[in-house]
Parts: sequence; structure tokens; C-alpha cells
Amino acid sequence: MNLREYQGRELFARYGLPVLPGQVASTPEEARDIAVQVAGPVVIKAQVMVGGRGKAGGVKLASTPEEAFDRARDILALTIKGLPVRKVLVAQAAEIARELYLAIVLDRSKKLPLVMFSSEGGVDIEEVARSTPEKIVRLHVPLDGLRAYQARALFQPVLREGALVSQAADVLLKLWRVYSDGDCQLAEINPLAITPAGKVIALDAKVILDDNAEYRHREWEGWRDREEETAGERLARDKGLSYVKLEGDIGCVVNGAGLAMATMDLVKHYGGEPANFLDIGGSSSPEKVTAALKIITGDARDRGGASKVRAILFNIFGGITRCDDVANGIVQSLAQSPLGVPLVIRLTGTNEEAARKILADHGLTATTKMDEGVREVIAKAQEVTV
Ligand code: GDP
Ligand code: MN
Repeated sequence: MNLREYQGRELFARYGLPVLPGQVASTPEEARDIAVQVAGPVVIKAQVMVGGRGKAGGVKLASTPEEAFDRARDILALTIKGLPVRKVLVAQAAEIARELYLAIVLDRSKKLPLVMFSSEGGVDIEEVARSTPEKIVRLHVPLDGLRAYQARALFQPVLREGALVSQAADVLLKLWRVYSDGDCQLAEINPLAITPAGKVIALDAKVILDDNAEYRHREWEGWRDREEETAGERLARDKGLSYVKLEGDIGCVVNGAGLAMATMDLVKHYGGEPANFLDIGGSSSPEKVTAALKIITGDARDRGGASKVRAILFNIFGGITRCDDVANGIVQSLAQSPLGVPLVIRLTGTNEEAARKILADHGLTATTKMDEGVREVIAKAQEVTV
């Protein structure tokens, strides 16, 4: 789960990281009230889950509460990289002398957390990595944790001044606690700012939590921003389906992540483009199947555009999943509401015969061959196009 900046900075503050006072607002009036409390210049920042908000006009300074009202109104009217701005952070503005970059991220290839630090902060770290890779310092964190001397050694060559090195090391050790105790996959501060007075402060917060650890953190549920979830994503999560929306036009319903990958590979191999990755899981019920079809066909309404799904493929390899359960789910959802696009069914395995009978009773057929199913669904999708 990705946290929004205002949530990330709350987490940071809890671990003692230096963040400036501020709060989140949904209206210009609220933004003005927060600016009154802060008493002094504020920065207004769009709370959308993308980087580069600054460049997109989503970060503005305001020196009075009235100005905060105006800037908040402007930013709340923005759509940044396709995401409407529904909330803004209003925080005490900092004076900035230098912008640095600091992050801890999971390095999967080394199977260790990785600290990344750069003297070039406030810009895209990917860009720094491309153009001046020597400006990024890296440190893998050993299994027994990060030590104070390691933190100091990391900053010494770049920051030099003792007071700055101490503050930055303190920030890193606290960020390490956020990352490890907080079960993060990423904890990033960009920019980590140095003020003209020589104070080090975290001016941005990007946190990705490891969903596998959710059972250890009751509060995470409350952090999920349900407003930002589409109806399809919400339904998928409630029903325990893995759902990833993609760019193509062929809706895929499969059981098992491996089969999902193989299905998408094959769709691509034959020249098609999958519209989604939808895994109904190892043991499925008719209910999961009806939810899956609802998600795929409902997606157009969620995104406010015409549905790009032009044909739907079921690719089911019945093991623990029973083919008759899937067939029942299909006929039940068709009875509730017609799909409006062609449906191709491939199923084989447990209770395949029973499934075939259920489908036949409702005028549907299924193939057992994956190749055949994929080619047919691509052909159907193309027929619909022309
Ligand atoms: P991002 O562009 O989405 O990563 O948003 P950031 O929160 O990192 O802000 C972008 C840039 O706005 C920063 O690199 C700073 O240069 C500037 N900025 C952010 N907060 C402040 C602030 O409190 N004071 C000043 N002067 N500039 C700020
Ligand atoms: Mn940033």
C-alpha cells in the first residue's frame, strides 16, 4: 500500500523525524484555517500518489491565510497525471539552502534493505541515476540492523560539517526504524532539506508498506484511502481476488498467478493485449466468478470512459478449483446481467464434465485447449472492433 504524503509524514513524526507542523485539508476554507494555526508562510501540496507534483503546479507557497485559501482552491481544481486532487497538505513552509535525497528501499536482488543518499535532492532520483550516477551513495543494511557509525560514515564525505552529519545520521537511524519496525518496502525523503540556519528537515514523505505485514498493523486499514479506490478495486479486495488493470482490450479471468502470467504471455504471443490480470484464486466459488465478471464489465464506469474490454477469456485449470463452480458462476452472472461482449471459455481439470453440462444447458461451449481459447478470444475482440 502506498501512503499519501500526509500519512507518511504522520508516520515519520511518530518516529521523531523532523517534519514541520501541518495538516491535511479538503477545502480552501480548511486550508485557510490551518494556515491561521501555523501562523506564518505555508506550503500547499497536492495529495496525489505521483511524483513531480511541484512541476505540475501542485506545490505552492502562501504567505498569508488568504493566499493559502487561493492557492488551495487552485490546487484542488487540478488533475495531476490523471489523478484529481481531493486533498492538500498545508504545512509550515521551510526556507531551503540545499536539497538532498535519502531513502531506504528493499533491494530484492541482494535480499537486503538498501540506503540511498544523494546530494542532488528535490529532483527525480531516476534522473540522477541516469545522468550523474556517481552522485548516489549506496549502503546495504546488514541483517542485524543499521549502526550509528555507518550512518555517520555515509554522510561525512558529502556533508562534511559535524553538525550536519550528526543531524543527517539521526534522520537516517530514525528512518531505519520507520522502515524496519513499520514494515515498509520504501521510505523516501525527497527533498531532505537543509535550511539556511543549518537544520535538516524532511520536506516530503513517500512510504510504501509491505501488504504482507498488514496483519501486524491494525491501523493500516484506516490508512487505506477508499475514495481513491475504484469500485472494481474495492470489490476485488473485498472478495479476495488479485486484480490489476492493464491497457489492452481482452479481459482475462484465471485461477492462479502462474496461469495468469502464462495466459497474458500467450495473449501477447498471438498479438492480443490483456485488459487486466484477474486471478480468482486457487479455490473459487461461483460468487468469486460473478464478482470477477462484475469487475471486468464495470471497469468502464469506474474510469469514466468507454470500456476497452472487447472480449473476455476464462482460462481455468481445475485443481482445487472446481470447473463446475466456475461454470455455475458464469451462468449465474449471465442470468443477472448480460456481458455485452463475447465470452470465450477454456476449462479443464476437476469436474470438467459437470461444468461442460452446466454450460451446455445454457447454450455455452468451452474448449480444453489454452491455445485455442486464446486465439479465439483475440479473433472475437478484433471482430468487435471492426
Ligand atoms: P514532489 O515534486 O511531488 O516530489 O513534491 P515535493 O514535496 O518534493 O516538493 C517539490 C519541491 O517544492 C521541493 O523540491 C522544493 O523545492 C519545493 N518545496 C516543497 N516544500 C517546500 C517548502 O516548505 N518551502 C520551500 N521554499 N520550497 C518547498
Ligand atoms: Mn518530493
